[in-house]
Amino acid sequence: MRKVALITGGSRGIGLGIARELVRAEFDVAINGTRDGREVESVLNELRSAGGDAFYIRGDVSDGNDRKRIADLTLKHFGMIHVLVNNAGIAPPERKDILDATEESFDKVLNTNLKGPYFLTQIIANRMIEKKKEHPLEFQCIINISSVSATVASVNRGEYCISKAGIAMATKLWAARLGEFDIPVYEIRPGVISTDMTAAVQEKYDRLFREGLAVQSRWGTPEDVGRAVVALSVQSLPYSTGQVIMVDGGMTIQRL
Ligand code: NDP
Repeated sequence: MRKVALITGGSRGIGLGIARELVRAEFDVAINGTRDGREVESVLNELRSAGGDAFYIRGDVSDGNDRKRIADLTLKHFGMIHVLVNNAGIAPPERKDILDATEESFDKVLNTNLKGPYFLTQIIANRMIEKKKEHPLEFQCIINISSVSATVASVNRGEYCISKAGIAMATKLWAARLGEFDIPVYEIRPGVISTDMTAAVQEKYDRLFREGLAVQSRWGTPEDVGRAVVALSVQSLPYSTGQVIMVDGGMTIQRL
């Protein structure tokens, strides 16, 4: 039987990189996003062409009713979720100095990047616990996509940094709570990855990479993150629950 992964924000950027790599590793995938299903048809066809099933659920992870629907529809379609990847996330609509940034932006970013995955995890974790009773040998895990911003301060997007620091703690909390059910929870912490999110700052980071921002002197790719997700999803790190996997090209190594 093929394993099933649910990837929030899985139709483009890092999420699509994750979906592609999981499909290559013979997973069926449920991908979620906020866009109309017609806009992701070609992505679904591409994922299906690798031989498995791909299913799209439109829904906003910051909305409680949508979170429940995302879980229900995925389980109705596939019967089980082996891997939940909490990837969907947003940058602040406008980068603003924390001396000026608004509460509205803070709420939007925190609701999407922290409250959304925290409570989606709660729903899926409860379903995983039920499934564990029926299928005790089936591997299930949860993977949170955070960011180096969990520890690196950017004063022009404080709300984003706080949301990612929160996800780092959420990973430890869920790892501690789900240990007794043998459901590991991991955090993948990417550096600067080439996607729509970073398209607006491409020139700045091109220059910074040339000047040695990371040890590995290139942008990260969605595939780099996808390959780390696959490693966790096929139990390559079975004794590491709650841990942070860095995918940042050595960017956060402190150097003199
Ligand atoms: P993109 O902006 O390229 O894609 C974001 C994805 O998330 C889209 O699929 C989007 O759906 C989905 N999404 C956004 N808001 C919601 C929501 N409320 N409900 C459901 N889905 C939503 O971002 P990236 O691929 O760059 O980022 C993915 C994750 O990786 C984020 O959590 C981000 O913080 C993190 N990250 C990114 C880095 C980077 O350098 N790019 C570095 C470190 C971490 P739709 O297509 O429908 O709009």
